Amino acid sequence: MPAPPTAAANAQPHAALALRGAHVVTMDPLRTLIDADVLVGADGRVAALAEPASNVSADQSIDVSGHVVVPGLVQAHIHLCQTLFRGLAEEQTLLEWLRERIWPLEAAHDPASLHASASLGIADLLLGGTTAILDMGTVHHTDAVFEAAAESGIRYTGGKALMDAGDGVPSGLLEPTAQALRDNDRLADRWHGSHDGRLRYAYSPRFVLTATHDLLRSIGARARANSLLVHTHASEQREETDIVRQRFGVTNIRLLANLGLADINACFAHCVWPEPEEFDVLASGGATVVHCPSCNMKLGSGVAPIAEYLDRGVNVALGADGAASNNRLDAFEEIRLAGLLSRFRDGPPGVSAQQLFEMATIAGARALGLDADIGSIEVGKYADLCVLDLQRAHVVGPEDVYTQLVYSARASDVRHVLVGGRILVQDGRLLAFSESDAVAAAAKQREALLKRAGIT
Ligand SMILES: [Zn+2]
Repeated sequence: MPAPPTAAANAQPHAALALRGAHVVTMDPLRTLIDADVLVGADGRVAALAEPASNVSADQSIDVSGHVVVPGLVQAHIHLCQTLFRGLAEEQTLLEWLRERIWPLEAAHDPASLHASASLGIADLLLGGTTAILDMGTVHHTDAVFEAAAESGIRYTGGKALMDAGDGVPSGLLEPTAQALRDNDRLADRWHGSHDGRLRYAYSPRFVLTATHDLLRSIGARARANSLLVHTHASEQREETDIVRQRFGVTNIRLLANLGLADINACFAHCVWPEPEEFDVLASGGATVVHCPSCNMKLGSGVAPIAEYLDRGVNVALGADGAASNNRLDAFEEIRLAGLLSRFRDGPPGVSAQQLFEMATIAGARALGLDADIGSIEVGKYADLCVLDLQRAHVVGPEDVYTQLVYSARASDVRHVLVGGRILVQDGRLLAFSESDAVAAAAKQREALLKRAGIT
């Protein structure tokens, strides 16, 4: 067993919290695997990885012997506003799905239904080990999503969807450019960096087909000036990329680059259909590709060329997308499917299990611009942690831990989840807020939402 790579036990005489007896998958730059006690300071950051069975005292100790501790999982493409739409938009292609179901439902949201939708999604995410997300809101009532995120304890980056153009966009979502930008700026001022930096704002133009070039250019300029993240969809389906090329005479990702959105910190969800020259656009800029394997299969979008992105040096993260197109928000399922799809598309060996787990941890943190603070278990980083019981019938075997985590582990193996040292899930039970209250509120708000949307 290698020596702990960090401070010795006696460097931290007292901890706020100790996870004792852990097998730690650190995801640090050396990808160190170590048996250690994880000590968390009062500031919510990892204070030390101490020798196992250290005598360091702690305000609170949790025995995690026999368990595996991994960095809290990061999902870089989520729509919490769509959690209430689960099962309401089946068997449609992307553009039909948006125009006939998703947009009318989003337009029917009010603050209460949006809060319920967000809380329900966050409960599912936390129970499955996801501690940080990049979320795309809908157009209105975005404060309600931030309020739900603030109450829940999850590490949240999100923003209102910007939609100032587009075919089939309902009047309830379409905004004049100036109004969209005004609300966007107000929200960024109010929420970015709040709750000790746990909540952050991301500029979120929905996609090229529902944004004017003026809007996209303005967002690029703001992102540069304010060092904020840009979050959008790109090249999800063939029909979409064909329309972009016909309408603008240029390919989708190239157009985003021409408008100043590819050489900054940006997350492009899907990127299933890149043109050959667009790999270079992505590799030379700052954009992350967010792979959403379940959603891509369910909407029949295709299989993104993940191995090629990784080979070309593009940062690749993972996301479940939304409950309307998945229908789960389970990071472990996305990791596993990313591996299976890689083999399905390109044959073995495909993307390695370690690379797949990186996509859900340190690469996800990089996507959010948070890799100095989360994404690996290292002294000084936030104690955003997920503790798994892998001594289960569907997991045990002679495999390496990455193979276990990627191909065998399930969300139901998650025992404890911490964000910034705060225990949000313990023994598989949500502590952050009441799961049953969230389920009840969601049922009530869903019924009211369907009535407002005229759906029976
Ligand atoms: Zn999406």
